[in-house]
Amino acid sequence: MSELNLILLGPPGAGKGTQAERIKADFSLLHISTGDMLRAQVAEGTQLGKRAKEYMDRGELVPDGVIIDMITERIASPDAGDGFLLDGFPRTEAQADALGAALAEAGTALSAVVLMEVSDDEVVRRLAGRRVCVKNSAHIYHVEFDPPKREGVCDQDGARLIQRDDDQEDTVRRRLEVYHEQTAPLIDYYEERDLLLRFDGVAPVDQLHVRIRATLASVSMQQRM
Ligand SMILES: [Zn+2]
Repeated sequence: MSELNLILLGPPGAGKGTQAERIKADFSLLHISTGDMLRAQVAEGTQLGKRAKEYMDRGELVPDGVIIDMITERIASPDAGDGFLLDGFPRTEAQADALGAALAEAGTALSAVVLMEVSDDEVVRRLAGRRVCVKNSAHIYHVEFDPPKREGVCDQDGARLIQRDDDQEDTVRRRLEVYHEQTAPLIDYYEERDLLLRFDGVAPVDQLHVRIRATLASVSMQQRM
């Protein structure tokens, strides 16, 4: 097996999106965000998308089997020839088991699980300090790391800056609780299988990227030997 098949884990606000973009470019991986994949398949009305929509229309969770079928279909495509980077799945041990079995059936396996570790207090500092322009949500500031020239006012258009509900400290803490409940068992699960790679997510973005890239390059080398 020479492809690099990865899972990305980390709390909200860890900067997973940024690192995912870079890792994907470094190793020509197919980035599979299960949320995006699901929405795309439903919108396109594919066979699996239709099956998923039946559950969604009833307000039920899409069963693991449907998601796994979507993933295995995606990774069988030519653009996943060098491997994939899975984001947002699995979230439970049962899903991890099912994914492992589906990959084995497809003649492949996971190479590594990348965990970006950031303390709860740091996540709260990052997210709760965020301020967004009411006119343009792409105008983002941070009270501590990237403050506007005038407090509460967008530098680019003079509009008011607000804190999104999602970024309120209470909400962030609740999201973190859910994250820990879901992820802690997965961390143990992949650690036991010798697949877990831990990275200090507090490191500056470029430094963190260099470390992840170097580690994954050696994982890829070892696989080829
Ligand atoms: Zn603005």
